[in-house]
Amino acid sequence: MNSIISDIRETARQLLADGKVDVVIGYEKGSLPLKATPCFVRSPQDADKLIWDETCENNLAAFATKTAGKKAIVAKGCDSRALVVLMQENQLVKDDLYVIGVSCQGVIDKKKIEAETGEILEAIIAEGKLSVKGIACDKEFNFIDVKDATCQTCRYPNPVIEDIHIGGSVEVPQQTVAFADVIEMENRTDSERQAYFQEQMKKCIRCYACRNACPMCYCSECFVDCNSPKWLTGGVDRAENLLFQAGRVLHLAGRCVDCGACSRACPQGVDIRALNRKLTKDVSEMYHHEAGISEEVKPALNVYSADDPEAFLVKE
Ligand code: SF4
Ligand code: SF4
Ligand code: SF4
Repeated sequence: MNSIISDIRETARQLLADGKVDVVIGYEKGSLPLKATPCFVRSPQDADKLIWDETCENNLAAFATKTAGKKAIVAKGCDSRALVVLMQENQLVKDDLYVIGVSCQGVIDKKKIEAETGEILEAIIAEGKLSVKGIACDKEFNFIDVKDATCQTCRYPNPVIEDIHIGGSVEVPQQTVAFADVIEMENRTDSERQAYFQEQMKKCIRCYACRNACPMCYCSECFVDCNSPKWLTGGVDRAENLLFQAGRVLHLAGRCVDCGACSRACPQGVDIRALNRKLTKDVSEMYHHEAGISEEVKPALNVYSADDPEAFLVKE
């Protein structure tokens, strides 16, 4: 067991024993290989369930809003950014939250591995390598080659807020071109982009796993489930899928923390990130705002000023 895991467990044990929190939200080993699962530890004896490794992919902030009482939460950089946004939106109260910050080396893109090995039957992670036994073949991977796309360009691997920090920090990788992926998409012709997104929307089965994994999708009634007005039927077709994704991404403008949880949750491999990232780039350019990087900076779309790029917002 590495020292990060033992320190997380000891911190959780102590917080629960001292009655400082009612629950510690962290990760435990999942029932499938290379899959950790969120866990809710409520007694000091259960703290030994907690783990920490490259399979801890969920954004745990999504569970903080749904868990009553005082809670401690194990937070990577992106989880901590989501916690900041949720506090700014009055969905979480700082006094009820204890952030166990852990710097993050990135998480595994399981779909990339399964594309080569077929369904994963067994896997061992050790010293930057993964040995995978799959249904189609066995293969060894370097972690860097199967790191999630989001983590390849992550600029906030270290928690932006925390009450305690476990382990060391991670050096922030230098980006050669910011939003290179979005620029590549912007440089395509209209018809190329249309064809790309039509292809993506064809794959969607509207299971809403992307929405459910997202810490920012906390509405008690999502617009897709609304009966009056009824935006979408229960059926799945490309136009309605696009309406869902367009609505979702607009609701996330200036709020998405680029954690990739939605893309990883998608069973169909839909490139949801392409839409999220375009909106993130636009908000960054128009409002000079990045979601959740500071508790002090107000969310981009909650601030009004006379030089707002949308002239209709300003009454002369
Ligand atoms: S985006 Fe990836 S590397 Fe960055 S904090 Fe989140 S999981 Fe870690
Ligand atoms: S994009 Fe993926 S996760 Fe989201 S509703 Fe469609 S199939 Fe489900
Ligand atoms: S839209 Fe996706 S990437 Fe953005 S915060 Fe939600 S889960 Fe994370």
